[in-house]
Amino acid sequence: MTDPQARAAELDAADPLAAYRDQFLAPGDFDVVSYLDGNSLGRPLEATAALMEEFIREQWAGRLIRGWTDEWLEWPLRLGDRLARVALGAAAGQVVVADSTTVLIYKLAWAAVQARPGRNRVVLDKDNFPTDRYVLEGIAAERGLELVWISVDPAEGVRPEQVAEVVDERTALVLFSHVAYRSGWLADVASITRIAHDAGALAMWDLCHAVGSVPVELDAWEVDLAVGCTYKYLNGGPGAPAFAYVRKGLIGSLKQPIQGWMGHRASFEMGPGYEPADGIRGLQSGTPPVLAMVPLHANLDMLESAGIEAVREKSLLLTDYVLELAAELPGVAVVSPRDPARRGGHVTLQRSGFDKVLDQLWERGVIPDYRRPDGLRIGPAPLSTSFGEVHRGLAALRSLL
Ligand SMILES: *Cc1c(COP(=O)(O)O)cnc(C)c1O
Repeated sequence: MTDPQARAAELDAADPLAAYRDQFLAPGDFDVVSYLDGNSLGRPLEATAALMEEFIREQWAGRLIRGWTDEWLEWPLRLGDRLARVALGAAAGQVVVADSTTVLIYKLAWAAVQARPGRNRVVLDKDNFPTDRYVLEGIAAERGLELVWISVDPAEGVRPEQVAEVVDERTALVLFSHVAYRSGWLADVASITRIAHDAGALAMWDLCHAVGSVPVELDAWEVDLAVGCTYKYLNGGPGAPAFAYVRKGLIGSLKQPIQGWMGHRASFEMGPGYEPADGIRGLQSGTPPVLAMVPLHANLDMLESAGIEAVREKSLLLTDYVLELAAELPGVAVVSPRDPARRGGHVTLQRSGFDKVLDQLWERGVIPDYRRPDGLRIGPAPLSTSFGEVHRGLAALRSLL
């Protein structure tokens, strides 16, 4: 086998996306040797720092409230359409940027259950992200629903045949993650959605760990509802807002539970009684987080220019390389799919005692993602991470083990 460091240099030299790394902001006085947690918080772009400054000085300071009417109020839908086109495989008019993923899961799941009267079951898996499970538990308690839990292999994720076994005429909704946050399992969205539809249920997908990392085809897969966040592979920054997708044919028939003025058909008439706005706009509740949407403009420019297919290609090479290096780590098990067709953008390593090396890794400027009690997730964001950086990180880990 070639020396792994030489291999990293070869892969970097052949990387068609290598130049995008220069568009990210250097970490200033902080010593970041290897950032391997792009699946938790993406890095900022140079352009983002400039756009934020410009927005504050020119738009906010200069336009003041005039900015709302001629510009900012349109951002949630305009950015939603752009995101739909660049990263979601969705036609215009079906995506809105708003709230947080947690709040949007609540709004959409509530609306889905409401739209399937007479059905009182919701299907989910035990390994889904905590907030997805907690929100559904809350809705179940509020509305007297029964949750049907699928158990999954922790190194994999939910499979179509497992869903087929449990959905029936009692199922209102199924909710799963496209890429499982723990294992990185890439679910077969089209097949599972079809199975839900055959039972008369709606299918909702959480795209947080997928968007900006793997190609998504919401329209072609006939997904009903989807949510995702913009601060992971979309580099939106801490607390950047989430997005929601509702299939065109479904939008008019959904009633969402947080009836605020920004989802009203005439927000500024301030009239009596709630009347929902037409279209995806009706999913909004309160004032959009405009300041937190500024970075998305720059990030979508970059993703559009790089192209999600090229991003996915590099992502698979990066995780292949992680798997190669992980094989040399003593006592470490890989708890992620090896099959590239079922692997998302990160790889999870398992070994007892990872908690003890984490501080030392951070001290050395190596930043992976730690999951209690014994998991390290390695999430190299394709646009900002070099193969050399992956090598430096895993070499540091190896020396500590
Ligand atoms: C990151 C993540 C979330 C986060 O939800 P927030 O409301 O933004 O905190 C939800 N679901 C999944 C699958 C995630 O990966």
